[in-house]
Amino acid sequence: LKTEVAAARARIQAAASIAIFSHIRPDGDAVGSLLGLGLALASQGKQVAMVLADGLPSRFRFLPGSDAIRTRAGAADLTVAVDCSTRERLGLPPNGPGGVDLNIDHHISNTRFGAIDLIDPEATATAEMLFALAGPLGLTVDTQVATCLLTGLVTDTIGFRTSNVTPRVLRMAAELMELGAPLSEVYDRGLNRRPLHAARYWGCGLARLEREDGLVWACLTAEDRARTGYPGLDDADLINVISALDEAELAVVLVEQPAGMVKVSWRSRGPLDVSRLAREFGGGGHEPAAGAMIEGTLEGVTSAVLAASRRLIQGAPGKTP
Ligand code: AMP
Ligand code: MN
Ligand code: MN
Repeated sequence: LKTEVAAARARIQAAASIAIFSHIRPDGDAVGSLLGLGLALASQGKQVAMVLADGLPSRFRFLPGSDAIRTRAGAADLTVAVDCSTRERLGLPPNGPGGVDLNIDHHISNTRFGAIDLIDPEATATAEMLFALAGPLGLTVDTQVATCLLTGLVTDTIGFRTSNVTPRVLRMAAELMELGAPLSEVYDRGLNRRPLHAARYWGCGLARLEREDGLVWACLTAEDRARTGYPGLDDADLINVISALDEAELAVVLVEQPAGMVKVSWRSRGPLDVSRLAREFGGGGHEPAAGAMIEGTLEGVTSAVLAASRRLIQGAPGKTP
């Protein structure tokens, strides 16, 4: 990894303009890593473009620099992807930038699509990697950068609750606080607050909650969104409600999407590796948390996903659907 870091540093030093991208349906680590790296590079005098193909979710508007996020970018000397497991997840238009020069990510499913790949599946968040890499890459972490990176750390660990949180990660969070990052605000904005619509939307899914042994699942329909006025196409974090249930060894949420697609989220407690399951369906993620966007009707996708999920629970090797 040392040679990669040195190469990355040289590429950054040589670039006058840098375009940074993160993944579609951005989460707190996508936004925090994008902004943290972008602000650190901008204060070095680089001309920085920060790009989220799906735009900035409103809950992250409190973050410094978030006004500058664009949905596309022009040409740049250096193209960087953060928190993005595949090139497709950047959501770039076909005529967008060709190659990704620098790929910084913590997903075990990362396809190593960069010219330089800095991948650490043991990191709790890409923001954690960036904090560790700041020194070696020659970047300064000021209060604004620290706030963005702490947001990535707090959201990807669901408030330091995931099993990969170590004393080292907590020390990192403490260091980010010492640099001025406001933990309680980051926690509240990043994880706690949500619109009333979201709770009503949860209600639709919870009313249809199903369970079969250790498998607990729920689906959300386009009609649920129309009825409750929930504006997003996501599950409003329903997966985190369901995966907390005692019975849920494996939790699944299926969300009907436009154009005949279904978004599936898996969460496991214990030894089940759901990233493998997600990859069977063209998605990816981490061992305890993964997702996929699957073509088909809600009914069809639900039955295929449940069959594969049962196989995982029963310990049989997964079959490609
Ligand atoms: P989600 O269920 O969408 O919250 O995603 C859980 C984890 O899986 C996150 O780390 C995502 O980055 C990853 N993930 C979700 N959807 C996909 C996908 N379509 N392809 C690759 N990774 C995904
Ligand atoms: Mn992410
Ligand atoms: Mn992440």
